[in-house]
Amino acid sequence: MRIIHDPEELKPFTRSVFVPTMGALHAGHEALIEHAAARAARMAVEADAPVPVVVSVFVNPTQFNEAADFDAYPRTLEADAALAARAGADVVFAPSPAAIYPPDGSPAAAAAFLPNEADLPEVARLPQLEDRHRPGHFAGVYGVVKRLFVLTECAAAVFGEKDWQQLQLIRAMVQQERLSVDILAHHIVREEDGVALSSRNARLSPVERKIAGYIPAAIVAAQGQSTPEAAEQSARSVFGRSSLAVEYVAVRDAATLMAYKPGQPARLLIAARLGNTRLIDNAPWQPRSL
Ligand code: AMP
Repeated sequence: MRIIHDPEELKPFTRSVFVPTMGALHAGHEALIEHAAARAARMAVEADAPVPVVVSVFVNPTQFNEAADFDAYPRTLEADAALAARAGADVVFAPSPAAIYPPDGSPAAAAAFLPNEADLPEVARLPQLEDRHRPGHFAGVYGVVKRLFVLTECAAAVFGEKDWQQLQLIRAMVQQERLSVDILAHHIVREEDGVALSSRNARLSPVERKIAGYIPAAIVAAQGQSTPEAAEQSARSVFGRSSLAVEYVAVRDAATLMAYKPGQPARLLIAARLGNTRLIDNAPWQPRSL
């Protein structure tokens, strides 16, 4: 497996199955890379030509709305490369900010690669979910993923359901930009106690890590309810017993993230803060039939 920093070196690895990450890779990312490798193997048989698996590791400054969060984000390239190789990657692409946002990776240079808020797909501009708590975040995600798709010239890309709203944004972005990239989703990988794996979990103290268990407990509490309102209420009452500061608990239409529509697939979305760490999670939701 190769580690490359210069986009020029990606040229032999186009039409890949691509897994974008910010590094600090864990078993959740590992599952995404394994999924990519399995898909690449199938595509290679169909195409009768090798299909590479490319993993990017780039802590994207434009999607952080807090400088302290960006500075504290774990950076572990050596271990990431070992995990990526084990999971079946052919290339780890670890660019500098200047390579992604030429000429110098500065905020001014990056701005040229970001969409205007007004041009963002509607799913990224919904009051009450991520955009309310992380203004500018989705413009950063849109800009960097589009840029990575252009640089890698990938044929398919794998995203985790862990970032559900982001996954819907990427699907909308591909349509809006008319990119020919297949978007593949992978289910959330969880710890034994149900907590979703996250690079940010590394920042939790042992006590906080235990408290994070209230999030999957809230998801379970919401499942047995017959209306979205009752589901949200039940989840909130679980949080009421913890020191988690809830940002949102919402049952929404799974695809548009607008209001729940009876009979349509729905998703329960949760964001909460534990000290300085922000945690998000989600799960399919359906009303208990009466
Ligand atoms: P990140 O490095 O946090 O930007 O995440 C890179 C990709 O890994 C995104 O598509 C995430 O949704 C996905 N991911 C992160 N954690 C998990 C998890 N626990 N299970 C599945 N996918 C995940």
